[in-house]
Amino acid sequence: MALTDSRPVRVRFAPSPTGKLHVGGARTAIYNWAFARANHGTFILRIDDTDPTRSTEENTQVILRAMRWLGLDWDEGPDVGGSYGPYRQTDRMDIYKKVAQRLWDEGRAYPCFCTPEKLAADKKAAQERNDPFQGYQRTCRDIDPEEAKARIAAGEPYTLRIKVPLDRGDVVVHDAVHGDVTFDAKELDDFIIFRSDGTPTYNFATVVDDALMGITHVIRGDDHLSNTPRQIMVYEAMGAPVPTFAHISMILGPDGKKLSKRHGATSVEEYRDQGYLPDAFVNYLALLGWALDGDTTIIPRDVLASRFSLDHVSKNPATFDFKKLDWIQGEYVKAMTDADFSRTMLVPELVSAGLEEGPADAAYERRPQWFDLLSSILKPRVTFAREVVDKARFLYEGDSVTFDEKSVKKNLAKDYAAGALDAATDALSALGEEQWDADSINAALDPLPEGLGINKRKFYGAVRVAECGNQVSPPLGESLQLLGKQTTLARLRAAAPLAVPAEA
Ligand code: GLU
Repeated sequence: MALTDSRPVRVRFAPSPTGKLHVGGARTAIYNWAFARANHGTFILRIDDTDPTRSTEENTQVILRAMRWLGLDWDEGPDVGGSYGPYRQTDRMDIYKKVAQRLWDEGRAYPCFCTPEKLAADKKAAQERNDPFQGYQRTCRDIDPEEAKARIAAGEPYTLRIKVPLDRGDVVVHDAVHGDVTFDAKELDDFIIFRSDGTPTYNFATVVDDALMGITHVIRGDDHLSNTPRQIMVYEAMGAPVPTFAHISMILGPDGKKLSKRHGATSVEEYRDQGYLPDAFVNYLALLGWALDGDTTIIPRDVLASRFSLDHVSKNPATFDFKKLDWIQGEYVKAMTDADFSRTMLVPELVSAGLEEGPADAAYERRPQWFDLLSSILKPRVTFAREVVDKARFLYEGDSVTFDEKSVKKNLAKDYAAGALDAATDALSALGEEQWDADSINAALDPLPEGLGINKRKFYGAVRVAECGNQVSPPLGESLQLLGKQTTLARLRAAAPLAVPAEA
């Protein structure tokens, strides 16, 4: 989409700290961030905490932490400041009051003294006479300002309402995702911008902020589309330019219902705790409703930040596909360098499993090449860091590996097994310590099955179980290199008693 706004791009993510940062909010944040980056604009984080009963500082901190984990750096907002602050709505109350006062002074807003009972009765009456307009009946719109002043001075409670011009007509929201969406003028009543308790409503505070912060594009969930015509009324009353809107679709679970706890984790930090890489997670979420082209699935952060556009955002609901997320995670794991994998995934897991003595950095520095070799064989075989522990455990068992009974029965308790272990022992003993690497080990073992007259599967099955305890371990050459020559030979000896056919 061509940018219709000539102002420099400024977008905001404005979560309400009434809960944790969820998948849907995270995707909204990603789109705002990527849109700002792709257009050399500014990404603002604003905390919409005007609902004092449900907003907490703790939730705010959780949201900031989740944003940082996602790697969505904000140019203005809490902690970093900026020249359009403050960036928490509770710190902006004076600003809302000032703007409301100005609209009131200009006759674009007015006090309403209707009690909740009166409003309910009016609504009921409108329903009973089948009035197509069932909103606020504009009862107080024409109260004489002097009278209003006197009633306020006498302590009568009042709200402040926006005065929608009677000839305003239909409101068309030009939405970058949905196209033009027309809202019937009838639906626009003079809605409340300030409550009787002196707090601003969402539709007012949001617009005051978006207008004063120079927001050019409002990218948010399409649950807010129905608020937009009212918000446009506030922009118009303020005489502020109306931003471009982009309302993005809901995220559904695999059963077609709105994504919720029933489907799995919903909060960003649950995904962090499950071991997802932030890059993989951001990549996956970006694809929930946006596509770079028809089929690219791996979209690194820098590509997202340069190529994201609202053109390719779909208006259809997106379905959360846990399998695809895991596939993408696996691809990111495979693409890591061995050293990165060692430092950030492998060694910390081994330390927390008690197999290595921490701290992790120090453990890594003790034998970086050993860990990197282990990483090179584990990386393609795991999706999550936690999976390394079971796969690496056999390396930590000294001369006597734990045997998996089934594997022993299938591969070691055979009439050919003793011969296989003997041949392997002879060939490997002949290798010098300085030759103890995967290639030399593989070269030494390679001719043996043929010499023994057994197939490779049988030969390697026997040696693998003797060395690793089971038949699903990583590649043998590297595994033996990691074990070292002495341990490798000791394990062949230790397995010899098992290398006899089970009695029938
Ligand atoms: N605080 C609102 C929410 O979390 C923001 C809506 C908006 O972006 O205008 O839903």
